[in-house]
Amino acid sequence: MTTRIFRSPAAYIQGRNVLDDLGDYADPLGDAALVLGDEVVLDLVGERVETSLEAAGFDIDSVVFNGECSEKEIGRIRERHTEHDANLIVGIGGGKAIDTARATRERTGGALVSLPTVASTDAPTSSVAVIYSEDGEFVEFHVYERHPDLVVIDTEVVANAPTRFFRSGIGDALATWFEADAAFRSGATTLFGTRSTRTAQEIAKLAYTTLREHGRSAVDAVENNAVTESVEAVVEANTLLSGLGFESGGLAAAHAIHNGLTQLEATHEATHGEKVTIGTIAQLVLEGREDALVEDVAGFAASVGLPTTLAEIGLEDPSIEDLAIVAEAACAEDETIHNEPFEVTADDVRDALVGVDAVGRRLDH
Ligand SMILES: [Zn+2]
Repeated sequence: MTTRIFRSPAAYIQGRNVLDDLGDYADPLGDAALVLGDEVVLDLVGERVETSLEAAGFDIDSVVFNGECSEKEIGRIRERHTEHDANLIVGIGGGKAIDTARATRERTGGALVSLPTVASTDAPTSSVAVIYSEDGEFVEFHVYERHPDLVVIDTEVVANAPTRFFRSGIGDALATWFEADAAFRSGATTLFGTRSTRTAQEIAKLAYTTLREHGRSAVDAVENNAVTESVEAVVEANTLLSGLGFESGGLAAAHAIHNGLTQLEATHEATHGEKVTIGTIAQLVLEGREDALVEDVAGFAASVGLPTTLAEIGLEDPSIEDLAIVAEAACAEDETIHNEPFEVTADDVRDALVGVDAVGRRLDH
């Protein structure tokens, strides 16, 4: 018999101004809250978060996040959590503050609220945290037992953030179905170490179709700080659908190639989702998908302002040696590229990147 696992946050709340109802949703989870976010984020929404929690009877302590999800920072936040006798931690903002809240809760117990202020990745709904050194070097990727008790995403806040974040979230979510599908076909395991479920596969697919049906108009709306029904659809695709899809559905070549690309300093200005977009198109090339599909996906990416050439992620004229470094890292033994239903070598990946770039440059003209 084959074991299959599907896991998820206990609740997901999305909508315009839902931030102001946070206290009501969090009420059953505790009465003493530690609020964690960086200075910019706390300036932006800190007061609304506190007002709402206070109205629900919470005792609050707010901590300014130092910017890095490191063991030292997790230790500092843990101490504040204990001093305040907190039974709830609210991680607000980008991925690193939320990851730090997640890692803290793992050690302190109590409840976790994940409150993303951007829709730039699919991490907020997950049980995964990326731990860095104090200098920002990658240390480890940790999959915890527990998910957030509550994910709250305010679409008006998301629509008012820079559009590049929103686009990047589309790039991250664009990979989800192709990766889950590859992992399912090969019988590979997901982040939970078991086979995937049909549920996760359909969720991943819905992320993709939602982006294709609403992505362009949603980006147009966010450019103008507007919340339309398309924006609601794409925020859900970027955050909930992609989040459940990647964890319970499985990863494959796209994220492995992203990880390979991070080896080159020149790509560091590009966001996670921008590099994942190149990884996704490279996965399709690697899988030998028909031209029509590769061009269709690349064309969609370009239409929402995502990169389709290497130059657009900082690799102006990469040497074959540079691409080999990326390819070697993407094919490391424990990488998810080996979840593809065929054997993948570094030479295949290097040439897939050359192929992506050629398609992207042609489409640009
Ligand atoms: Zn991702």
